[in-house]
Amino acid sequence: MEEKRLLSTLKEYFGYDSFRPLQKKIITSIFEGKDNMVIMPTGGGKSICYQLPALLLPELTLVISPLIALMKDQVDGLTANGISAAFINSTQTESEQEDIYKRIEENSLKLLYVAPESLQIIDRFLSDGKISLIAIDEAHCISSWGHDFRPAYTQLGYLKNRFPSTPIVALTATADKATREDICNQLNIPHAQKHVASFDRKNLSLEVRPGTKRLEQILQFVETRKKESGIIYCLSRKNTEEVAAKLKAKGFKAEAYHAGLGHEERTQIQDDFINDSKQIICATIAFGMGIDKSNIRWVIHYNMPKNLEGYYQEIGRAGRDGLASETMLFHSYADVVQLQKFASNSKNEAVQIAKLDRMKQYSEALTCRRKILLNYFGELKQEDCGNCDICRNPPQFFDGTILAQKALSCIYRLKGAEPITVLIDVLRGAQNEAVLEKNYQQLTTYGIGKETSWRDWQQYIIQLINLGYIEIAFHKHNHLQLTSLSKAVLFESKKVQLAKIPTQQEIQESAEKV
Ligand code: ADP
Ligand code: ZN
Repeated sequence: MEEKRLLSTLKEYFGYDSFRPLQKKIITSIFEGKDNMVIMPTGGGKSICYQLPALLLPELTLVISPLIALMKDQVDGLTANGISAAFINSTQTESEQEDIYKRIEENSLKLLYVAPESLQIIDRFLSDGKISLIAIDEAHCISSWGHDFRPAYTQLGYLKNRFPSTPIVALTATADKATREDICNQLNIPHAQKHVASFDRKNLSLEVRPGTKRLEQILQFVETRKKESGIIYCLSRKNTEEVAAKLKAKGFKAEAYHAGLGHEERTQIQDDFINDSKQIICATIAFGMGIDKSNIRWVIHYNMPKNLEGYYQEIGRAGRDGLASETMLFHSYADVVQLQKFASNSKNEAVQIAKLDRMKQYSEALTCRRKILLNYFGELKQEDCGNCDICRNPPQFFDGTILAQKALSCIYRLKGAEPITVLIDVLRGAQNEAVLEKNYQQLTTYGIGKETSWRDWQQYIIQLINLGYIEIAFHKHNHLQLTSLSKAVLFESKKVQLAKIPTQQEIQESAEKV
């Protein structure tokens, strides 16, 4: 296909003057009849990669997409641009379906969206010669290694056998290598050309904060951003509602969004957000897939996501217009413990736990966060980014040997049989039930860490865990235990360097500097 023709079609139907990196290469490869695998971050411009070929190819392009709700939006958008597109699913009436069959027969349809569950409805109308291209959107849904596995996707492997001469393009924003390989194998396109876009979204600032008094921190944050749209991701429906209620009470146009709401209600909330009549959406991860709002200025994670793929996809919804946007993740120890439980009850326990570990390492990092993130997606960067909290405010280290000795000897006295909360209570000489019930006030280590705040202890202990001096016994009620390295600190005066914990005020000031 001539470049001139591609560009003029891009301009005529989509209004763009040039291709984004990789788009042209992918489109050219599709015209060569090859199978392709596209890995691009959210907002990278995946849709054009199959929508534009669809316009120029002789027959129908079949688009497999996981969510019926999104299909309608996509089709409406295409139709508004003068492109003949439709979707088919089991909720349509017979006459609506008949109409689509007719358009397939007449070859007047360019794009047909279908959920994998509904593929059999149209199967008899399709043959190898009748379709020019098969696009599989959100292709990671086929892989149980990925973060959004959908059983109906696993049957898609038959497409290559049924339509052997039709090229397939699989698209996803999930980048890790294992998932990528798994997708190609399961789709029977092992030799697909792989196109991996850069995952570096320089316009997104990255920040992680301790998850204490999250609601207060969020209120302070939005108070200075009253005209900016944003999303707050929470783990549970209950959290979305609580956060939304709090914001509404302060006069913000906020709304909760989760899978427990009715279809219409959800569509309404999405529309309100897109046309700016709602400013803030407090959502579970059910929100956002495929939402095309380019001016989302910030994304907050009220809870820690289960892995970096999910995290990156969610923060990627901010700043699609390329303008500076902010992201903030609250890191809480309780979340980690909860996620650990989910992971250990999941099908792919080992994989999920390993992914969660990477997520934790990112949250607790003491070096440039973007480097860690891009490294995870296989992009090695030499330079610090300058646009994450660590780069803006590099941690200062101090001799934390005494603090470490206090914590470790206290764990020793507690016989490795208490979780972090009790450890901190004993260190700080708390007088609550958990302490008094077991007579911990009589331990020699009771109250030896009074002068350090609860929040700081928590952060120091997390550092000690990461440094390998303390272990969490996940299968034993998350009790904290000593490790083979602890001895050197306790008995051989091994020095421990800890990172200074910025005060709430310092965090605030560094955020205002930007
Ligand atoms: P993805 O599916 O990868 O998340 P989209 O296909 O929805 O991304 O594209 C993201 C945004 O970028 C959309 O607003 C889209 O219109 C825009 N876009 C895509 N390609 C181009 C281009 N070549 N020039 C300008 N804008 C583009
Ligand atoms: Zn950085």
